[in-house]
Amino acid sequence: MLGPPGAGKGTQASRLARHYGVPKVSTGDILREAAAAGTALGLEAKARIDQGHLVSDDVAIAIVRERLGRQDVAFGFILDGFPRTVDQAVALDDMMRERSPLTVLHLVVPVDVLVGRLHQRRICSVCGTNADPTKAETVCAVCGGALVTRADDDEQVVRNRLQIYEDRTAPLVEYYRGRPTFFSIDGNQPPDAVAAAMQGALASAMAVGQTGSPR
Ligand code: AMP
Repeated sequence: MLGPPGAGKGTQASRLARHYGVPKVSTGDILREAAAAGTALGLEAKARIDQGHLVSDDVAIAIVRERLGRQDVAFGFILDGFPRTVDQAVALDDMMRERSPLTVLHLVVPVDVLVGRLHQRRICSVCGTNADPTKAETVCAVCGGALVTRADDDEQVVRNRLQIYEDRTAPLVEYYRGRPTFFSIDGNQPPDAVAAAMQGALASAMAVGQTGSPR
């Protein structure tokens, strides 16, 4: 899943993972969990995350390499938040050499919509699920945990993250665009419509045998 902060990657990645019965692998979730657990990795990452900076390529790549080495991703996985730099994309291609090709879903959303979404966003402090922005929920619909604002959704940090996206991650669109398994999806539609478009893109990638069939 490729797209700027607030494009809906996390929400849509969870939906796709449920739909296809495969794990969602989110580097943001893994880093936030490590920060909450107070591990050395987490504490080092927390300051960078809270300011909207990327963690180093070495750290991000090591996390994904370890996660994709586990058995539960043998039949496929949804990657959310990785790769974010060209060096990460090159490392991912290397990790995928013995597997079916990646399908790249690029979520396109206008900047003013992204800023509004990030400003409103609330996540569960326990399980990390995004709250439904159309409902005035006070606790998480999944686990009942308290809803909180992410420290990195602060207005100045959001601007920082969008700039970093433009500088470091947007070049990945050109990196992947020429591949038959690259799809641009309009992310400025209701979530059900975005999910349907993504499933359509994945179905066409599978139909031409470009990517592995999920279980
Ligand atoms: P996300 O939940 O995907 O918005 O990620 C939250 C934060 O975690 C980012 O702003 C970065 O600080 C860090 N992060 C997540 N994934 C990566 C990655 N692939 N490379 C570098 N930093 C990352």
